[in-house]
Amino acid sequence: MGVPRILVAGAGIGGLALAQALHHGGLDVTVFERDPTPTIRDQGYRLHIDPDGNAALRDCLPAPALAEVHRTSGVNGDLVASYTQRLEQVMAQTFPDVSGADVTHVDRNAFRQGLLTGLGDRVRFGRAVSGYSVTGSGRVRVEFAGGGGEEGDVLVGADGAGSAVRRRLLPHAALRDVGLRCLYGRMTIDDTTAALVPDDFARGFCWVGGDRGEGAGFAPVFFRERPAGARDYLMVAFVAGVARLGVPDQRLFALPAADLWRLAAGICADWHPALRALVAHADPGSFFPITIRASEPVGPWRPGPVTLLGDAVHTMPPAGGVGANTALQDAATLAAELIAAARGERSLAEAVGRYERVMLPRGFATIDRSLAMIGQMLGSPS
Ligand SMILES: Cc1cc2nc3c(=O)[nH]c(=O)nc-3n(C[C@H](O)[C@H](O)[C@H](O)COP(=O)(O)OP(=O)(O)OC[C@H]3O[C@@H](n4cnc5c(N)ncnc54)[C@H](O)[C@@H]3O)c2cc1C
Repeated sequence: MGVPRILVAGAGIGGLALAQALHHGGLDVTVFERDPTPTIRDQGYRLHIDPDGNAALRDCLPAPALAEVHRTSGVNGDLVASYTQRLEQVMAQTFPDVSGADVTHVDRNAFRQGLLTGLGDRVRFGRAVSGYSVTGSGRVRVEFAGGGGEEGDVLVGADGAGSAVRRRLLPHAALRDVGLRCLYGRMTIDDTTAALVPDDFARGFCWVGGDRGEGAGFAPVFFRERPAGARDYLMVAFVAGVARLGVPDQRLFALPAADLWRLAAGICADWHPALRALVAHADPGSFFPITIRASEPVGPWRPGPVTLLGDAVHTMPPAGGVGANTALQDAATLAAELIAAARGERSLAEAVGRYERVMLPRGFATIDRSLAMIGQMLGSPS
């Protein structure tokens, strides 16, 4: 077998980590991304990276990319805690021995830039994947929304929760709306607002459980080195049921950012003044809504030249901050298998099958944990 050509749909977290590992491992990899440019879209805010995610990053990324991710990550936090809406601490866990070599969290935009380090024209922006077909010789042809396509030996759908590749490969796979919505925004931390951040909230992830089944996560990003144009900030993520929000989806997803910010301020109107101040000083234009969903379990399928990774196969609620970490683990597992196949140790189909046998149970067990956790955080089963 010559050098296998691997096609990846989606230059998100998992797709880029996979591309890094394959490119570094000498495979021919091309990533097709729907976004017209790497910076066109605000990716969102802070991502918690756990020890599994750090291990996967070390497995996937060559030294320059790993260094860039570390350089632009947040200064490590050492606390995870939860509070009532009256700011009474309910639980606190400290991590005093956080190694400076690992990262505890990243900013999504900076992370994407770090993951792109050295990939150059291996990543093609403005290429939305619409589907694929398997050729007579068992190769795969990926098709683009604007017409045209490209052929490779394996196609990896790393195209997130709405995956076009999953729709074609597993048309029966379903995503469940767990009935929760997230209002996701941030407060810039500068000379004016720094004093508003309670000490604990500057140290890590702090969850506030409201009295009426809603809650909000607060967590800072103090960049080790600020990327151009970036500023330190406090992530603000309100989570509530549709009824508690009181705004039907059709309206919610049409609201301007400033109205979503006002909605968040309304949810915490009777919370402790220090919490209300964080929302009052948040950036009104930074808020957007998210539907919280979870993939329904899917059984194994016959391995072939097309597979899936990350949210494309196992979307989960943000509770516990594990979705991106699981996507990174998928990338590391799949890259190791494909590189072994390129060395002649197994066929590509065997490599894909071995990956799927690890990825599927791991991904769906993580969804179960994440669903249980979000139920606990909001004081209700999800
Ligand atoms: C509010 C919130 C907070 C979260 N916090 C955390 C956290 O702290 N830690 C954590 O581990 N996880 C967290 N998650 C989950 C995490 O964001 C996801 O699990 C993670 O982004 C999945 O990575 P991925 O690579 O599978 O998909 P994505 O990162 O979603 O990447 C998919 C990529 O595919 C592209 N794409 C989509 N369709 C197409 C197409 N047709 N053709 C080509 N490209 C396409 C997209 O533009 C995107 O770039 C959070 C989620 C939410 C909603």
